Amino acid sequence: MKSGKPSDYPQHIDIFTPIGRKATKSDIKKRKLLIPQMNRIGGHLLAATFRSFGIDAEVMETYRGLDAGKSYTSGKECFPCQVTLGDVLWFINKEKKRLGGRFDPDFYIYFLPESDGPCRFGMYNKYQRLVLDSFPELKDIKIASLSFEDGYALSGLMDEEIVKDFRKAGYLSVIVGDILDRLLWRIRPYEKEDGISDPFIEHAMHVMENAFEKNSSSMKFEKIIRKLEDLIKSARSIIDPSIPKKPLIGIVGEIYLRTHVHANQDVIRKLEKYGAEVVNASIGEWINYSTYDRLREAKRSLRYAVRRLSIKGIKRYLNNLIGYAVDLYYQQAKQEKIYSKIRRIMDIRPDHHIGELEKISKRNNLYSFDMGTEACLSISGIIKFIKEGYDGIVNVYPFTCMPSTITSAIIRPIMAKYRVPYLDAPYDGSYQPGRESAIRTFMYQAYQRFQKK
Ligand code: SF4
Repeated sequence: MKSGKPSDYPQHIDIFTPIGRKATKSDIKKRKLLIPQMNRIGGHLLAATFRSFGIDAEVMETYRGLDAGKSYTSGKECFPCQVTLGDVLWFINKEKKRLGGRFDPDFYIYFLPESDGPCRFGMYNKYQRLVLDSFPELKDIKIASLSFEDGYALSGLMDEEIVKDFRKAGYLSVIVGDILDRLLWRIRPYEKEDGISDPFIEHAMHVMENAFEKNSSSMKFEKIIRKLEDLIKSARSIIDPSIPKKPLIGIVGEIYLRTHVHANQDVIRKLEKYGAEVVNASIGEWINYSTYDRLREAKRSLRYAVRRLSIKGIKRYLNNLIGYAVDLYYQQAKQEKIYSKIRRIMDIRPDHHIGELEKISKRNNLYSFDMGTEACLSISGIIKFIKEGYDGIVNVYPFTCMPSTITSAIIRPIMAKYRVPYLDAPYDGSYQPGRESAIRTFMYQAYQRFQKK
C-alpha cells in the first residue's frame, strides 16, 4: 500500500502551543467528525450512527500516511499512535489539496478515544495535539477525546437530551460490527468458492451502514437487528458443509493491533491460510470492560467515603455506582440478546462476560483487575478460550506494548502447563522474515492438538 511521503508535509516543528483545545457540543454540530479506522466495519457503523444523529462523520482512510506518522514521532511511541497520527495527517493533506484556498482547518474534528493509563494510550491525543499545533495551518483542528475515565460516556460532546440515545445506538453499532467480523471469520475458512466471503461482508457492511443511518436516532433498533438477521441467513449459503472443521484459534492482545488488518499484516488471513478458523477478542469486550472498571472504581471510592463518613462522597459515589451498574447491565443484556438471536441462525462464537473473566483471574491467581489495562482481558480471556476448547492462542500487539508484554510473561508458563500452542505476535510496521514460518509452525502444533481431540 502506498504511503504519504513525509516531504508532502510541512518540514518544521514550531514551539508547541498549549494543549487543551478540545471539541465541545457547539463545535461538533457544525463540523466534520473524522473517525479513525481501527476496524473497518466498526468505524463505518459508528460514523453512520453519528450521521443519523445529525453529525457529519467520515471514516478516514488508514495506513496510507504511515511514513508521515513515523516522521512526526520519535520512535518511543506505541505503533498505533504512529498509525493514527499518519491517518489524520494524510487525510488533512488530501483535503488541503482537494480544497485549495477553501480549506478551513476549523471545519474538522478529529475523534480519538483515550484512556487514563497506566500505559501510553492516555498520551496519544495530547501528543497528537502537539504535532497538529506544530503546523500553524492545522492549529484549529480540534480533537474530540472519548475518555475511558467516564466509560466513553461522551460527556461534554453532545446535548444531554440525545447523549443517552446516542450511546445506546453507538453501543449497538459496536456489537453489530463485532458480529459482522465474527461472521467473516466463521464463513471464510469454509467458503464454497475462493474469495466470495470478503465481498459479501463488504456488502453487508454497507447494508448495515444504511440501516444505522436511517434508524439509529429514531431508536428503531429492531429494524437494524432484522437486517442483520437477514444478512446472516444469506451468509449460510456461502459455507460449504463438506469442508471439515478446522482448528480453532483465539486471538487476544492490544485492541488496535489485533483489529487493524494493515497494522497486523492481516494475521487472521495468514492463520486461515495455514488451516485455522479464528476468533478475535471483540471491541464490545473492551467497552464492557471500561464500564465494569468504572463500576469497580465507584465501589472502591464508596467504601472509602463510608469509612471517612463523608456524606458528600457517599452521595457522589453511590450515584456513580448506580449509573455504571445500570450501564453495564444494559450493555451486557443487549449484547447477550443480540448474540443469542444471531446464534439461532449461525453458530458464531459468543462474547466473554467481564465478571466471569475477573473470576477466572482470581480463581487462578493470575492477575488482579485492580492493575487494570488489557492484560486483565487477555490473560483471563486466554484461560477462557482454553476451557472452551480452542486449539491455539495468538497474542497480537504493538512492539513494546506494556499490557501485552505482561500478558506474555504471565501466560507463557501456563500455556506450557496446559500444552496449548501459543504465539506472541508483536508488530511495529516492519516485515519480519520469520513471521510466516512462525505462524506455519504454530498452526502445525495447533493441528496436532486438534487431531488428538
Ligand atoms: S496498550 Fe500498549 S500499545 Fe496501547 S498505549 Fe498502552 S502500551 Fe501502548
